[in-house]
Amino acid sequence: MKSHILGYPRIGVQRELKWALEQYWAGQIDQPSLLQVGAELRLRHWQAQADAGLDFVSVGDFAWYDQVLNHSLMFGVISRRFGSGRDLDTYFRMARGRAPCGCDAAANDMTKWFDTNYHYLVPELADEQVFSLDATDLLAQIREAQQAGFNAKPVLIGPLTYLWLAVHRTEKGASEGKLALLPHLLDTYGELLALIKQQGIEWLQIDEPILALDLPQSWKSAFELAYNRLNSAGLNVLLATYFGPLGDNLGLTCQLPTAGLHVDLVRGPEQLDALIDRLPVYKVLSLGLVNGRNVWRTDLRSQLALLQSLPANLKQRVWVSASCSLLHSPMDVSAEHKWPAQQKNWFAFARQKLDEIVWLSRAAQGQLDTEALVASDAAISDRARSGFVHNPAVQAALQGIQAADARREQPYAQRAVAQHKRFNLPLLPTTTIGSFPQTKQIRAARKAYKEGVLDQAGYAQAMRAEIAHVIRVQQSLGLDVLVHGEAERNDMVEYFGEQLEGYLFSQQGWVQSYGSRCVKPPIIAGDISRPVPMTVQWAQYAQSLSLKPVKGMLTGPITMLCWSFPRDDISREQQALQIALALRAEVQDLEAAGIGMIQVDEPAIREGLPLRRADWPQYLRWAVQAFKLSTCVVADHTQIHTHMCYSEFNDIIQAIADLDADVITIETSRSNMELLSAFERFAYPNEIGPGVYDIHSPVVPDEKWMGNLLETAARAIPLRRLWVNPDCGLKTRGWPETEAALRAMVNAAHHLRQRVQAGAEKALPEPA
Ligand code: GLN
Ligand code: ZN
Repeated sequence: MKSHILGYPRIGVQRELKWALEQYWAGQIDQPSLLQVGAELRLRHWQAQADAGLDFVSVGDFAWYDQVLNHSLMFGVISRRFGSGRDLDTYFRMARGRAPCGCDAAANDMTKWFDTNYHYLVPELADEQVFSLDATDLLAQIREAQQAGFNAKPVLIGPLTYLWLAVHRTEKGASEGKLALLPHLLDTYGELLALIKQQGIEWLQIDEPILALDLPQSWKSAFELAYNRLNSAGLNVLLATYFGPLGDNLGLTCQLPTAGLHVDLVRGPEQLDALIDRLPVYKVLSLGLVNGRNVWRTDLRSQLALLQSLPANLKQRVWVSASCSLLHSPMDVSAEHKWPAQQKNWFAFARQKLDEIVWLSRAAQGQLDTEALVASDAAISDRARSGFVHNPAVQAALQGIQAADARREQPYAQRAVAQHKRFNLPLLPTTTIGSFPQTKQIRAARKAYKEGVLDQAGYAQAMRAEIAHVIRVQQSLGLDVLVHGEAERNDMVEYFGEQLEGYLFSQQGWVQSYGSRCVKPPIIAGDISRPVPMTVQWAQYAQSLSLKPVKGMLTGPITMLCWSFPRDDISREQQALQIALALRAEVQDLEAAGIGMIQVDEPAIREGLPLRRADWPQYLRWAVQAFKLSTCVVADHTQIHTHMCYSEFNDIIQAIADLDADVITIETSRSNMELLSAFERFAYPNEIGPGVYDIHSPVVPDEKWMGNLLETAARAIPLRRLWVNPDCGLKTRGWPETEAALRAMVNAAHHLRQRVQAGAEKALPEPA
């Protein structure tokens, strides 16, 4: 029973790779120094795998920026705009649009790797794409591992997953076109496998995570062709699937001619019986028993029981692993010096997961280290009993939820009357999404406060000065609905997590998000409750400075959940509802403090969608319920806003309408209001502000351009329900461009308003 992993984090416990990359990009270190850091990290990480006792070390999981981009460079999938080179600087230019030497060129697109928070660079296939192999780097890394005495198992992304993730420039929306490139791509894989075999490699891992998705029949059929072809290389291929059960692809996958199959038993434990039935007797079955995507210690006892219950003829062919690559977990819990030992014990980060995997495989073979088992049991029961985890008051509140708690008293049409009377806003009201530029001074004040250099009173004063400043600016720009600017927030999830009971924060729990960028997600560790109001004082202060409405600003329950490490002992739905109840209390307090408009941001609602369509309705049901539970506590004349970004809402538009927010501000400007076509087909019932300019770009948008977008919007949305706003928060922008852009936006709204009032609205066709 061998033990192995699908991949290891490459960033380093101290994020060494990040610092080296950023220094290299800034021209502060030369390429040999960068290469040196990479080599050291690889060696250190292989050593950790060997020290833990794994049978293989994973090679090819290292990337200077992204593993998908590695493959693009290796196969020659390099757009002409990056030049004809295939060196490291070309690679960085593809990733970042620039490099220390060479001119600028638009980078490849970046998008989320399945349902993780990791982003890969989308391969760009040319019309008549020619693949040409250059595997120098991968082969050198295999040699590097072998020379250091390790048993290397290289890992590749499979040809079908690679194609699936790519864009095909001539493609007209169909995924079929790309498949025509498969035979040629397979030739290239064939060459690559031959070279790998020459290195004396026994096992090769090929990742095909798309096998956990809904696939068109043509793609399913292509798997057979592909793996028959790859099988001829004479290597033992371990076909790795993860992020979900195989579902309707299970039969197909079992029958593919590969020497082994890896499955994710954390996300898909239910598939084990079918696998036992369907797996041919010659195949190795690698079981992902340790969660590669979360931070909790594995329940060794139950996973061992699972291994022991396997039929005897299968046991000899079973390998033990983590569910997916450990790229998605933080590196080492022993670096959490601030956590008490008892609490540290609840966790297993990547380094600790290696030990769990080895322990399971040894124990299942009779080498039972009982001391480790006792320690694991103790940690798990300690967590289960902990007062930090279980809060009876929260559980009672959950029990007490009634259907009416998630329903506004009156339908939107009636609320709108009360709200219009109360706020008396002009036609096409202008507003922003919440944050204003996070300046150096703001960050310095926050840092000084955290480090104890600035006391509570000094910090509050600094933040109030920031609030007063953004209110003044907004007044002078003539915006109709103001915000307080979010100066006091480091991050929209962390800020609330820190004030809620039940959240924990690591010091070093970094996970790569893209390139050199890492995130440190908060950890939902216990029942969530809100000890005291979180935002009321800031909101009240901001409102006291203006006669115009100032929106209260909260992060919604789904975003709080999606951007944290969740608990593994209760469902995601339960966690969302707990957070919703805490937010509901905050919404109620804001309303009682006289805040008339409250915005609850849900930028992550789209990305929380399950991988399989069949699972969408259930997710959307509880996501909508959680949002409504947090907001449907206010009177009719209190206006609930929400905000979403990252596009592609068309397929969940009904759920968005079901949130029943009075106003939604939404990102559309990058796609040139493409979203609006969805609103032409689907009559969005409430008020909506489709973003009229892209805050991700430093370019100050032109007034006329925004005016045109507004007119386009006015054709799809009745004027009385149309708002005017940028497409996201402004915290990453500088002040000069922010003021200029908002001034132009307000002018664009005023001009359209004047034209409408002058009777020219006849020029705008009535919405269908
Ligand atoms: N209110 C938040 C802000 O303006 C929303 C951020 C987001 O959508 N990601 O920064
Ligand atoms: Zn946004």
